[in-house]
Amino acid sequence: MTLVTPETPKHKKSKALKPGARPPAKELCSECGLCDTYYIHYVKEACAFLNQQFDKLEEGTHGRRRELENPEELYFGVHQDMMAARKQQPIPGAQWTGIVSSIACAMLEKGLVEGVVCVQNTPEDRFGPMPVLARTPEEVLAARVNKPTLSPNLSVLETVERSGLKRLLVIGVGCQIQALRAVEKHLGLEKLYVLGTPCVDNVSRAGLQKFLETTSSSPDTVVHYEFMQDFRIHFKHKDGSIEKVPFFGLNTKELKDVFAPSCLSCFDYVNGLADLVVGYMGAPFRWQWLVVRNQTGQEMLDLVRDQLEVQPVMSRGDRRQAVQQSIPAYDKGVTLPMWAAKLMGVVIEKIGPRGLEYARFSIDSHFVRNYLYVKRNYAQKLAAHVPEFAKRIVAQYKLPD
Ligand code: FAD
Ligand code: SF4
Repeated sequence: MTLVTPETPKHKKSKALKPGARPPAKELCSECGLCDTYYIHYVKEACAFLNQQFDKLEEGTHGRRRELENPEELYFGVHQDMMAARKQQPIPGAQWTGIVSSIACAMLEKGLVEGVVCVQNTPEDRFGPMPVLARTPEEVLAARVNKPTLSPNLSVLETVERSGLKRLLVIGVGCQIQALRAVEKHLGLEKLYVLGTPCVDNVSRAGLQKFLETTSSSPDTVVHYEFMQDFRIHFKHKDGSIEKVPFFGLNTKELKDVFAPSCLSCFDYVNGLADLVVGYMGAPFRWQWLVVRNQTGQEMLDLVRDQLEVQPVMSRGDRRQAVQQSIPAYDKGVTLPMWAAKLMGVVIEKIGPRGLEYARFSIDSHFVRNYLYVKRNYAQKLAAHVPEFAKRIVAQYKLPD
């Protein structure tokens, strides 16, 4: 129990949201976990869905805003370096080659941090998120692989403060990191490191079940999946087999309601406020994509640099026509017959966007869809909620009413 004195910070007198209570962002809540702690005190300012404040948070984190006239920063945010990389010896069972887990382990081993916020799975469910404050490399490794659902990572922030820990690494997706950056100054830390991943189209645990049942031939044996740069979803099953389903064959009508409303109104695909971002979509097939946003991110990367194979980022093709043509399909929930979807997948794979252009393809498609979603469902929020960089990206396309 917290002993309340006149010096006690205001937030410590606030009460976390009761289980099942309606969150401040209502149906737009991404369950980032902030409201499960007394930091709910700052929710009006901190919540990514109540207060869009990229400019201020970018300045506070990186010392400057992204340059909107610089085409790479417009898309990928503030950065000082970008590359494709993969571990020479991948970590078995990681989402990709395990660069995220390796950096977190190295930070603990070298004493840069005393704890890592990451997300393991619950004992009863391989995809059930269980955020933890990991204190050992073994606990970090137990968090490897995506839990492809909304995850309340920030729910452990009270534990962090109570533990008296001063140097912390947080691993998380964009909405979690936006709220984290907004309350960073209240955490009592000497140093916060943020290792982000891109994130898009996330779902609740129930939504994930529907997605698996609608899309995979064996939903109960899926242990891992990814929307790959070859325009197919790769499902990995328990027995090690890989099932590939073309994006264009997805049952978009059935799946329209699966994605969380928070994710349908998110414009932070590339996790603009992390120090270092590790994804895959800007890299060639089978490589990971690294975006170093600032010196802190560089310091983190340097710890594992000798474990990596690295190559420069590349970009090929022109996404624009494919994005424009896919807008009505997204919008009306059209499903192509499987034979046509496979054919389209093969054609696009041969001539389609690659590397950074694939990342732009994905950003454009999702920003357009999300812009239309906010416009139709939260028209009064549109002007303030959509950041300027996203407005410029969407403005390249002809949109339906
Ligand atoms: P690993 O070493 O396997 O570590 C994975 C880390 O992710 C763990 O530390 C764990 O704590 C954390 N994590 C797992 N689930 C969650 C969660 N739900 N919320 C927050 N943190 C979590 N990359 C792209 O380029 N494009 C995308 O569209 C994209 N979508 C993503 C969607 C989600 C929900 C997530 C979690 C990640 C997404 N990524 C995306 C990132 C990518 O899939 C890999 O996670 C990343 O490249 C790291 O791979 P790795 O092998 O280094 O990670
Ligand atoms: Fe609270 Fe996070 Fe939900 Fe916003 S998204 S209401 S900060 S739990």
